[in-house]
Amino acid sequence: MIDFSGSTTRISESTLVIGLVLPDVMGTYGDGGNALVLRQRARLRGIEAEVLPITLADPVPASCDVYTLGGAEDYAQRLATRHLTKHPGMQEAAAKGAPVLAICAAIQVLGHWYETSEGERVDGISMFDLTTTPQQTRSIGEIAGEPLLDGLTQPLTGFENHRGGSALGAAAAPLMRVVRGTGNGAGVAVDGVVQGSVLGTYMHGPALARNPELADYLLEKATGRALEPLDLPDVDLLRRERLRR
Ligand code: GLN
Repeated sequence: MIDFSGSTTRISESTLVIGLVLPDVMGTYGDGGNALVLRQRARLRGIEAEVLPITLADPVPASCDVYTLGGAEDYAQRLATRHLTKHPGMQEAAAKGAPVLAICAAIQVLGHWYETSEGERVDGISMFDLTTTPQQTRSIGEIAGEPLLDGLTQPLTGFENHRGGSALGAAAAPLMRVVRGTGNGAGVAVDGVVQGSVLGTYMHGPALARNPELADYLLEKATGRALEPLDLPDVDLLRRERLRR
């Protein structure tokens, strides 16, 4: 797990607070890096920003400006579901428009219910109008596609590793059209979910390190202001290299 200690000591009124939700149980493939990317891209614009890790020992506050949740294996996912049901701070914040980014298992937890690979159905927290059931085979590998969300223009790229496939209901829209990989499930050719200010994707990577436009989309929602572009050649290089694969 990435060490975020010391990152919350200077939080003041003007600080952008990035809630890193349950990094102790959700955060496979360095998904905690999404919070670091948001913090760094805010700071590079002169915006004070801190990551607030919210663990199983903490109630989930409704006061964060943006929330991120990572992937997890089935048992850890269940602990997270229980905690978020008991402490609905993130749900309250999202209802007021706070942006949320949910990766992989977190999509499933934020849905109405998900079925584990053992066939057990677990109730989710219904922030997303979707349900998840195991696919015939696990989807592992690179995933890439074209964004379907207004405000995004650049191809999206990530890494996926999941058994669950998610079926979207009428209130949920997909995040991208899949060109390579599986995303929400075999045959649907879309990945992720957008419902109000809450976004989900099966992309690890971390997704925001690979997709800076998506990071800035969340930051603009969190700060309520337009942000000037950043010129970061290393990030461009990483994207070119990943998209070529
Ligand atoms: N356990 C879930 C699945 O296999 C999510 C996996 C993940 O988050 N990488 O579908």
